[in-house]
Amino acid sequence: MKINVIIRFYEELNDYLKPGGQKQDIYIDIEKGICVGNLIESLGPPCSSVDLVLVNGQPVDFDSLLQNNDRVSVYPVFEMFDIKSVSILENSPLRQLKFICDDHLGRLAKYLRIFGFDTLYENDYDDNIMIQFSNTHNRILLTRDKKLLLDKKITRRYLVKQTDPVQQVREVLEFFDLKNYIMPMSRCLKCNGLVHPVLKETVKHRVDNNIFQISNAFSECTGCGKLYWKGSHYDSMMKWIQEMMD
Ligand SMILES: [Zn+2]
Repeated sequence: MKINVIIRFYEELNDYLKPGGQKQDIYIDIEKGICVGNLIESLGPPCSSVDLVLVNGQPVDFDSLLQNNDRVSVYPVFEMFDIKSVSILENSPLRQLKFICDDHLGRLAKYLRIFGFDTLYENDYDDNIMIQFSNTHNRILLTRDKKLLLDKKITRRYLVKQTDPVQQVREVLEFFDLKNYIMPMSRCLKCNGLVHPVLKETVKHRVDNNIFQISNAFSECTGCGKLYWKGSHYDSMMKWIQEMMD
């Protein structure tokens, strides 16, 4: 016996759907006795990417059986909203946003570090390493590789649409609603380590004497020891950061 249901996918779950079903109600006939999880995966999105399913406005789990005329709303693993109170599924929303960029997004990784976001990147990461880092450390995998995006082993990922790195960082800041969490110059651009202030006297023999004379504020990376100071590029970089925050 067939029943009719209406299903709609939200946000990046649409990336899994065939053209024509994206960002709209999908009317579908299914056999009676099909559960929510089976219906979702039959249309493309893996359940591991789903955080919340509402049927007729009520949260349900993946084993819930569908009834005639049910309206199903499917939401992704949320990185930007706290829906813990309403979700009853297993994947808990992320509390802390951390990223890993694929091997084509090196400049995006550097820009995210400039804004203070914890972002792993090495140009020799292979797909398996990126998936492992993403899953083990709850890092959102940022990629432009649709094949990687569709790998069902990944639970936290985002398809970067823009091709220009400056536009990419703007896209990521806006999508994940990060503008209130920007901490400029708090991370090392080279290794992603945290940067903290150090006394000027302690770096006297580690920098060029000219730099030592004209600079008063120095910081050091806790990861690789790289020193930072407010050089000529500092003001222009802060101006750019301010523009992105507005
Ligand atoms: Zn470093």
